[in-house]
Amino acid sequence: MSNNAKVWLVTGGSRGIGQAIVERALAGGDRVAVLTRNPQKAKLEADGDKLVNLAADVCDEVQLRDAVEQVIAKWGRLDVVVNNAGLHRGGKASRLDLDDWDAVLQTNLSGALKVIRAADPHLNQGASIVNIGAVVGFRGFPGDAAYASSKAGLAGLTRALSIEFAERGIRVNLVIPGLVLTDMTSGLSEKALNSMRSMIPLGRLGEAAEIADAVHLVAAATYMTGAFIPVDGGLMSTFGLPG
Ligand code: NAP
Repeated sequence: MSNNAKVWLVTGGSRGIGQAIVERALAGGDRVAVLTRNPQKAKLEADGDKLVNLAADVCDEVQLRDAVEQVIAKWGRLDVVVNNAGLHRGGKASRLDLDDWDAVLQTNLSGALKVIRAADPHLNQGASIVNIGAVVGFRGFPGDAAYASSKAGLAGLTRALSIEFAERGIRVNLVIPGLVLTDMTSGLSEKALNSMRSMIPLGRLGEAAEIADAVHLVAAATYMTGAFIPVDGGLMSTFGLPG
């Protein structure tokens, strides 16, 4: 392993946006540990050298600590943590199943904190944490209360932790993807997609690789912390950037 190669931990890296983040890191010569509940279903096959697929539920602190220890045992360090694992459950507040509410908050918000706490003892000066937010964390969409609350919470967590970690030279940022076609969004109708497309200034959906490029840049941006970075075709500029 070259001295410049970084070690990444990417939650939810088995498919979708997470998979693209993994591919981008590997293309840059780095090493990547993917954390999901179903590593056997990961689209990228582990090669035993640069990529490992580990089993861990981001809701389970014991599994997370064990997975992080496996990364340290293998590569001896941890440089970039990407909190990408995510869950979407819709439903208007009046009908939303509270089990769904809990699952979304546990995965998207508490899960990110648990991952950071598991990684924390191994993060050193120069390390970078990239949280993956969502536009609905900043702009209201009806029927998205649980997901929006979890992503708004993740924005707050990002800013609080950016200050807590700053004294150790560790950066914490939030990348905010626009709409990308993945398993999470596969249930959207053509009508809904067209309606969303019409709101996006660039007039198209995003590609997972475009989000991954931004994550890679943010992970390497040594003077950026506590920042919110939309990668959304301009959608957030239509209602104002988060303050
Ligand atoms: P996806 O295709 O549904 O993939 C979700 C990933 O998260 C999978 O690898 C899944 O693996 C993993 N995961 C889910 N729950 C987990 C848990 N409890 N523990 C560990 N891993 C878990 O989602 P995506 O669309 O790529 O989204 C990735 C991130 O981008 C999410 O945070 C999402 O909120 C955000 N985002 C997506 C869009 C979009 O348009 N797609 C827009 C804005 C933001 P297992 O099921 O095997 O565990």
